[in-house]
Amino acid sequence: MLAHLRVLASEIGPRVSTTIEERQAAEYIAGQLEAAGYATTIEPFDAGSTVDGSTVTLADGSTLESTRALLNTPNLAASGRLVRAGLGRAVDLVDIDLQGAILMLDRGVVQFGTKALNAQNAGAVALIIINNVPGPLVNGTLGETDVSIPVVGVDQPDGSALTLLVDGGETVQVVADLQSITAPSWNVVGRRGEQCSAYVGAHYDSVALAPGGNDNGSGTATMLELARTHRAGGLCFLAFGSEEVGLVGSSAFVEGIDADRVGFMLNLDMMGKRTRPAFIAGSDSASRQLADRAAAVAAKAGYEVPREAFPRSASSDHASFSAAGVPAITITSGNDEVIHQPLDTFENVVREDLAAMLEIAALVLQDLLLR
Ligand SMILES: [Zn+2]
Repeated sequence: MLAHLRVLASEIGPRVSTTIEERQAAEYIAGQLEAAGYATTIEPFDAGSTVDGSTVTLADGSTLESTRALLNTPNLAASGRLVRAGLGRAVDLVDIDLQGAILMLDRGVVQFGTKALNAQNAGAVALIIINNVPGPLVNGTLGETDVSIPVVGVDQPDGSALTLLVDGGETVQVVADLQSITAPSWNVVGRRGEQCSAYVGAHYDSVALAPGGNDNGSGTATMLELARTHRAGGLCFLAFGSEEVGLVGSSAFVEGIDADRVGFMLNLDMMGKRTRPAFIAGSDSASRQLADRAAAVAAKAGYEVPREAFPRSASSDHASFSAAGVPAITITSGNDEVIHQPLDTFENVVREDLAAMLEIAALVLQDLLLR
């Protein structure tokens, strides 16, 4: 498992939906399932992707390398003088003349969408958010807010360079240009027997700059180990691409299955750091029963792993299966503060926690196979 994790998180690194690194991970996983004796396929599907052509251009014509659009920004251009005003709470912006200005704000405390609305209401024509951690500002979103000015992020060095221009009143231009495209992503499927009657799955993609050690190299490594150690006719193993952009891989996969013939789906997502282990079920009763049964199996072995629900903002690939009518749960070791960040590395996974979560998953799988 550690060898799998090292390849995924350290050698390949971030495995963003539709990228070459995601494809490399799919090929690695396929090779492992093949070697474990499965009829293995890499199955492409269309996934949404974005091309970001956003720029911040200075008076001398130079541009800032780290510029990234925030999701849901309108694709617009605006020019103006620069003003910097803290975090962008409404109270930070009173008594500042922002009419026609490009406002710069620090990341943090206030949601991006709120910062943008406050900037817009104060008369700013564009917003630049300066990242508060190293690197470009990625995965930021304005959410469902009604923002009508362009909003981009820059890294700290570029933020400092811009701040030096504030006093001179130099005019800069902000262009937000985030285009949606479709591109292929891939599920890896290891089949055994004529017909899959049960599945164990894990997503293997991650987000930009995040090596995805715990989320979800840990679940992928556990899935591969269960495939190696639990060969049974009809038990099939899955690695999903493009989970992080909206459960796209698992949604594509369930379109091709006959749900009536599938007994259960066990999903593994974040298995490497025990903060609050849980079995997560959707709202359907079959999945909740599955989670209760799994909790009883774990309890018998001395592990306290209750049935829980994800917070509203979170989900995982079990949801695609339960929506399709397959009883499905996610096993997780609990939330992890560094997921979706550069710190979610190979080293972020705690070996003994990964081992314990493997044991729990194996016990549940064995119990379900015997019923
Ligand atoms: Zn995940």
